[in-house]
Amino acid sequence: MKSYRMFVNGEWIDAKSKQTREIIDPGNSELIAKVPESGREDIVVAVHAARTAFDQGPWKNLTALERGKFLFKISELIRRESKRLAELEVKNCGKPLAEAEFDISDAANCFEFYGGLATKIHGETMSVPANSMSFVVREPVGVCGQIIPWNYPLLMASWKLAPALAAGCTVILKPSELTPLTALELAELIQEAGLPKGVVNVVTGPGAGAGEELASNKLINKVAFTGGTVTGRKVLEGASSNLKRVTLELGGKNPNIVFADCDLEAAIDGGLFAAFANQGEVCSAGSRILVEKSLHKSLVDGMLAKINRIKLGHGLLPGVKMGPLVSQQHLEKVQSYIQVGIQEGAKLICGGKRPEGSEFSKGNFLMPTIFDHVSPQMRIAREEIFGPVLSVIPFSTEEEAIQIANDTEYGLAAAVWSKNIFRALRVIRQLRAGITWINTYHPTFNEMPWGGYKQSGWGRELGLHGIEGYLETKQININLDEAPINWY
Ligand code: NAD
Repeated sequence: MKSYRMFVNGEWIDAKSKQTREIIDPGNSELIAKVPESGREDIVVAVHAARTAFDQGPWKNLTALERGKFLFKISELIRRESKRLAELEVKNCGKPLAEAEFDISDAANCFEFYGGLATKIHGETMSVPANSMSFVVREPVGVCGQIIPWNYPLLMASWKLAPALAAGCTVILKPSELTPLTALELAELIQEAGLPKGVVNVVTGPGAGAGEELASNKLINKVAFTGGTVTGRKVLEGASSNLKRVTLELGGKNPNIVFADCDLEAAIDGGLFAAFANQGEVCSAGSRILVEKSLHKSLVDGMLAKINRIKLGHGLLPGVKMGPLVSQQHLEKVQSYIQVGIQEGAKLICGGKRPEGSEFSKGNFLMPTIFDHVSPQMRIAREEIFGPVLSVIPFSTEEEAIQIANDTEYGLAAAVWSKNIFRALRVIRQLRAGITWINTYHPTFNEMPWGGYKQSGWGRELGLHGIEGYLETKQININLDEAPINWY
């Protein structure tokens, strides 16, 4: 068991209240760490540090190349510590080791991508009258509050920090109260990389108090939030205090549309991976599989034949493909949705319960669950469950598939399976979602924009788009005539 402190103004400190929170391994209920439980007053201290670092510090005045080099260094340090970070991620949030290793490597890539992008932030020049010059410069938005969830702790921290730092901002990052450990370890690496004090502050604490202060504090210029849609709305309300810039990465109820002319084996594989990777605790999970009626039985039979290959267990054990859910409370929420599905009349065709065996008794394990014959109006087809629960919804025509797919308040991700490229592209163009796939599910790249339509969020992270949210745009007009204009 390790006792952590939090990283504020280049120092490691406790919460002012001295309160701590116990961090539990969701796979065996062991106490793995204690972290400071901060409140509003701790955020205020961190905000002052970030404000001073932005207003007076050297960070925003470094050349882009110098900032970029810091990001490359952070990337290198993440790679050096990748084994330890991946194992810690598994212990803290439950995911299988292979997935955690992928996340850590992707986090390092993210810092590298934005390290390179730092030197490519360009302005514009304009065609204006001959007696003037006019141009546009991009400047850092300022002090950023960043709030992240528990499902990809280090990766989400990297998606937030890397573009902000590349742009020249200073940051107060608050990880989820459930999964703060790799963000604190990252802060140690950032300290080792030698960033000036106050540029990155990592404060641990809950949404109530700490998170609310980050959203509403008037010294903060921008809040970047990833989490649930209900929380996102509260963050937006808090941010209205000083009309700070806001980006939101929220939930999803994503359609994975399978046409009869697809490669069946690939769609079976892709359907399971879409729904059950990371225990289904993925904003972009393909939690609704829409299948053309003539293929319905073959797809469902194929998924049932393969589902036992999803080996459950503690994420550090070899061969495990699905770990525990992040907390007992979250497990209960997902289980309550399974009861809702049964009551609504959907057909439970596998899972729906906790696995048997003493190795599972102390962890928040739940078997991968599939409901068949789900109607689009059922709650399990409409609400984000955020666990290993897949709804199978049959459809008859392409138009009906599109209608069902878009009949949701969310618009994060979507996929189409078909060998007919005309149909696949035609359908993709009609889907109201920000991240889409054809004949695959889940792969995404640091170079590409991530984010949703409708109530799945505001703005985009990653890629060239991802840095936009951390930049202001200033026009500079220069008069080339020395004489007064004599307007009056
Ligand atoms: P959550 O909304 O409960 O919490 C997210 C973060 O917000 C946490 O750090 C929490 O402490 C903080 N928070 C809670 N209440 C707050 C408040 N009133 N003010 C400010 N901060 C507050 O979400 P979660 O359960 O941690 O994560 C699951 C959700 O995240 C899902 O809905 C999922 O879809 C979403 N998510 C979205 C993306 C994306 O890229 N779109 C990625 C990952 C997760």
